[in-house]
Amino acid sequence: MTRRTHIVGAGIAGLSAALAVTADGNDAVVYEAAPQPGGRCRTLQPVDGFIHDNGTHVLFTANAHAINLLKAIGARGRWFEPEPQGLPLYDGRTGEMQHVGLSPWSWLLPSRRPQGLTLPDLARILRLVFTAKDRPVASLIGNRPIMDSLIEPLTVAVLNTPAAQASSQRLACALRKLLRPGAGRLLVARNGLSEDLIEPAVATLEARGASIVTGQRLRMLLTSHERVIGLALTDRTVMLGPDDRVILALPPYEVQRLLPALPVPTSFEPILNVHYRMPGLANPRFIGFTGTLAQWALIRPTHVSVTVSAADAVVDQNASDVAERIWREVVPALRGLGLDATSGRQPETRVVKEKRATIRQAAEVLPQPPLQPLANLALAGDWLGSLPATIESAVMAGEQAAFILRHARCTRPSVPRDRPLKTEDAA
Ligand SMILES: Cc1cc2nc3c(=O)[nH]c(=O)nc-3n(C[C@H](O)[C@H](O)[C@H](O)COP(=O)(O)OP(=O)(O)OC[C@H]3O[C@@H](n4cnc5c(N)ncnc54)[C@H](O)[C@@H]3O)c2cc1C
Repeated sequence: MTRRTHIVGAGIAGLSAALAVTADGNDAVVYEAAPQPGGRCRTLQPVDGFIHDNGTHVLFTANAHAINLLKAIGARGRWFEPEPQGLPLYDGRTGEMQHVGLSPWSWLLPSRRPQGLTLPDLARILRLVFTAKDRPVASLIGNRPIMDSLIEPLTVAVLNTPAAQASSQRLACALRKLLRPGAGRLLVARNGLSEDLIEPAVATLEARGASIVTGQRLRMLLTSHERVIGLALTDRTVMLGPDDRVILALPPYEVQRLLPALPVPTSFEPILNVHYRMPGLANPRFIGFTGTLAQWALIRPTHVSVTVSAADAVVDQNASDVAERIWREVVPALRGLGLDATSGRQPETRVVKEKRATIRQAAEVLPQPPLQPLANLALAGDWLGSLPATIESAVMAGEQAAFILRHARCTRPSVPRDRPLKTEDAA
């Protein structure tokens, strides 16, 4: 009998799980609550034609699983390095632009060194990279100039949590990978997340016979004897075959709603993105900011997207006030790149607030559920495990869930499938 894997959630973790399942020739179907796949990694396509990603996403060449996924879906060539000469960092206090290498090896060149980097700083960074005990990142570095020019921007970009609280061990996982030669190249999608990642993934899945069903929210898991026997979706109930499996590729709060006994992380950090519709640059550029609310700007041909991660302090403020402030901050840097930008002429603007952009990755033990809480069900999602919650961890979690179920002995039901559900099972 055919074994089908039912995957709930068409974010990166769900798509990665489906790709892993179908790579072996197995059957998969993906159910997604939203009208489009992609989850937190998506392009917004409003009717007014101002098309942009929900928020800028970057990958590093160190993200081996994500890069392999791009290759598997034929999309590696769509991700390119906008700043091969080192990341331009604009200091909003002095108006100076500096280039910083992301790989520590590039710091051998004085022109790529983070401002204020000294030998004792290198020793501190090494302590951070090989830290045995989890501590807040800032407590390992101390109050030094590189906090501002390197550590805080890097921590917030990777962990979406301020360095004063962020987990040194999670950051160290990412930094150790950046140590490998060639691993510190920063990549962005040439046209956008949907076109360069989600659509190629969906096309690959469909070519393998898998289907992605959007607009279907999993309302309830139907269970019996520690197995899932059915999925109650928005407008249908799917009953499972005896060999069928389920992967829940969902955010932690959805997992907890469906399986309330499971421990999951409950604190989150927001990311705010402001998109300015204006003529940009044919070849996209990516610049960082220090000393400003703005942290990163991606300049695309038709718009400029500015990111504020760990945005707790501003996420509840009036969106147009925040957008106005950020516009004033980024104008000098945009002018420096040759763009026609003036403080008094703010272009059409859209603000996207992702209030639960990632889990809060503080230096503390985060609640974690078992990866296979029911005999034929595994969990996936960027929040599982101890790596930074990113595209890379979402891809890895999807692959891991597929692996677990492939090798699990999924106990078959000991009662006939047409047995009526017990109400407590179905609740
Ligand atoms: C603004 C922003 C910027 C980011 N920048 C970066 C970056 O630069 N680099 C990086 O690597 N990562 C970045 N991330 C993180 C990255 O987006 C996530 O790690 C990744 O997308 C998580 O994928 P996921 O599949 O685990 O979760 P999600 O994307 O949340 O996917 C879960 C899916 O499940 C669906 N769903 C929820 N409930 C149900 C239900 N009951 N039934 C059916 N479907 C349901 C959701 O609609 C969603 O599609 C960023 C995130 C944000 C928000």
